[in-house]
Amino acid sequence: MDAVTTRPAPDTPDSSDQQAFVDAVEAWAEKELRPVARKYDLADEYPHDIVEQMKELGLFGATIGEEYGGLGLSSWTYAQIVIKLSSIWMAPSGIVNSHLIMASAIERAGTEEQKAKYLPRMATGEFRGSIGLTEPNAGSDLQAIRTVAKLDGDDYVVNGNKTWITNSMHGHGTLLLVKTDPAAQPRHKGMSLLIAEKARGFNVVGKLKKMGYRSIDTCELNFEDYRVPKANLLGGVEGKGFIQTAGGLELGRINVASRGAGIAEGALKHSLRYAQERSAFGKPIWQHQAIQMKLADMVTQVEGAKRLIEQAARKFDAGERCDLEAAMAKLAGSEAGAFCAQEAMRIFGGYSYSVEYEIERFYRDAMLMCIGEGTNEILRTVIAKQLVERYRV
Ligand SMILES: Cc1cc2nc3c(=O)[nH]c(=O)nc-3n(C[C@H](O)[C@H](O)[C@H](O)COP(=O)(O)OP(=O)(O)OC[C@H]3O[C@@H](n4cnc5c(N)ncnc54)[C@H](O)[C@@H]3O)c2cc1C
Repeated sequence: MDAVTTRPAPDTPDSSDQQAFVDAVEAWAEKELRPVARKYDLADEYPHDIVEQMKELGLFGATIGEEYGGLGLSSWTYAQIVIKLSSIWMAPSGIVNSHLIMASAIERAGTEEQKAKYLPRMATGEFRGSIGLTEPNAGSDLQAIRTVAKLDGDDYVVNGNKTWITNSMHGHGTLLLVKTDPAAQPRHKGMSLLIAEKARGFNVVGKLKKMGYRSIDTCELNFEDYRVPKANLLGGVEGKGFIQTAGGLELGRINVASRGAGIAEGALKHSLRYAQERSAFGKPIWQHQAIQMKLADMVTQVEGAKRLIEQAARKFDAGERCDLEAAMAKLAGSEAGAFCAQEAMRIFGGYSYSVEYEIERFYRDAMLMCIGEGTNEILRTVIAKQLVERYRV
């Protein structure tokens, strides 16, 4: 099925080692992940054994630099891994993704002490992280957050609430967005990021029950006089948290794009098989033109999304500005996921509703990619503004 593979073109610079790793992860996912996906998803149970295997594979250190014990993979190689995993079961890639967004923020903006303290433990998965941005009253408008951190001696004392924080029950800490100066104007100048390890006052209130993206822990958090050492202020300077958060969005969006494209590819692969096996009116359903239209639109969306992901990832890896490219990749990848999952539901007909097939899980998982890491409505405004900025008349 060459048309739906993600192998880079031969002239691309990814080393054969990196490609071999992508192939090894794919083989592992087929053998270990696919057989248990339905069980964990339906039970909404955390896949501890899968996480242990992901540790052994080195996935928690995928993009962390080799000097800290990580694999130092390019973001394009990592994107291919995420596409492969998500074409089988998207949720486990989420355990790695927000962890690596936290790691990447520390690697990019942290002090030398912070890098030395956290990155080696993060690379092995011994310390698994999350991203603590969203609050009950503030998602897209992050500058409206109300969680406050006040300096008291050598500690910040944090009070406030977060919600929808993935990996926060089974993880060991979060990159916590707080207001260190709630009165600052403009608002973002009063925002900081803290490397917040679990301790007294860091309360996981409860795991949220979700339509999809199940089995992974997404929780509400409450902080009550929770003390974080001042040394854990990311980069050591207050007021940089909003900019540091925005700086991580490009990689985060490439990740979410890849999860969407993976769902799209998985839905397409299942549909291609089913359309050849299922007959109606005396012939396989793929021979009906209505089904052909769907398969054609699906593969076009999958391949288009993958090309945009590759474009964004290669720019990111080259250290070039890629906010426009990452936003386009995220929009295309997530919409491809939602579109292909829905088209697969139609191709499978009544059987799409059966939990015996995997299509209903793809359908439940897909929409999240249109919401997380910047909703697609916000992203369209980002794309349009960047377009005008780059091509101003
Ligand atoms: C399963 C799940 C996991 C999550 N995991 C995490 C996590 O790990 N960490 C974390 O911090 N957050 C997480 N989130 C939260 C997620 O990032 C937010 O839900 C998302 O940013 C949107 O915020 P909101 O839900 O508050 O929607 P709102 O910001 O309230 O938006 C509601 C609607 O208004 C639209 N809208 C708002 N402002 C504008 C505008 N200016 N222009 C156009 N349209 C606009 C939005 O596009 C949307 O359609 C998770 C969410 C879910 C569902």
